[in-house]
Amino acid sequence: VGSLSIESVSKTYDPEGARVVALHDCSVDIAPGDFLAIVGPSGCGKSTLMNIIAGFDNVTEGRVLLDGQLLATPSSPPKPGPDRVVVFQNGALFPWKTVLENVMYGPLVQHKMALDAAEERAMDLLTKCGGLDKVAASYPPQLSSGMQRRVEIVRALINEPKILLLDEPFRAMDTVSKNTMHQHLLEMYRVCRKTILFITHDLEEAIYLADKVIVMTSRPGTIKSTIAVNLPRP
Ligand code: ADP
Ligand code: ADP
Repeated sequence: VGSLSIESVSKTYDPEGARVVALHDCSVDIAPGDFLAIVGPSGCGKSTLMNIIAGFDNVTEGRVLLDGQLLATPSSPPKPGPDRVVVFQNGALFPWKTVLENVMYGPLVQHKMALDAAEERAMDLLTKCGGLDKVAASYPPQLSSGMQRRVEIVRALINEPKILLLDEPFRAMDTVSKNTMHQHLLEMYRVCRKTILFITHDLEEAIYLADKVIVMTSRPGTIKSTIAVNLPRP
């Protein structure tokens, strides 16, 4: 699971008034387990594309399919779901819950799992994802932003999403923290082998992390080229 087809997608904001073409005729295919990065300057439509895939927004033309199922068409309402989780640059953990409680939330609430089973599953995944079990009892505000981001990724992964969407998750970090985060993300990718779509304006970051890099250009947002990098992955 986790194949995504973006077929000739266009997105126009406010077609009646101050018309903004955010995306023009964009097509992308992502195979299950691919780590794909989308890179391009500010305003080229990266977040628009991410919002469409996440089900926060609709397409004006074209369609998006996830594992062959229609996700977005011009006539269908946007539908978000736990099978597509977005991690942003700003924290979204519950500050009043511990790390463990944050990670257990999905299994308990979305999957109606029993308390001890959810706890076991959360601890297991925290342990596998770079030894995060050691911060299980901490509250998010006690952690560095890098650590919070790692916990958010684990909280996303525990719901077994078909695709993990990362929208500039390390944007506000300094170079050293960023590089450390890259190692952690690649480790989590090796553990979970989910399809990952990573958005960034940083070409070096895109090339370092992804198997494939899609380059977008603005005015209007179009896909310029696709570059294969880091293949085959060791
Ligand atoms: P990026 O993420 O690459 O910086 P965006 O997807 O945020 O680009 O934006 C693409 C274009 O669409 C920009 O010109 C932006 O101003 C415009 N845009 C984004 N969201 C809206 C909106 N809700 N209403 C009108 N224009 C928008
Ligand atoms: P060079 O400048 O000789 O091409 P780099 O300084 O780019 O070498 O890379 C040296 C090492 O630093 C790499 O093997 C890699 O482990 C690490 N590294 C480089 N870029 C990144 C990055 N964006 N994120 C994490 N680690 C990186």
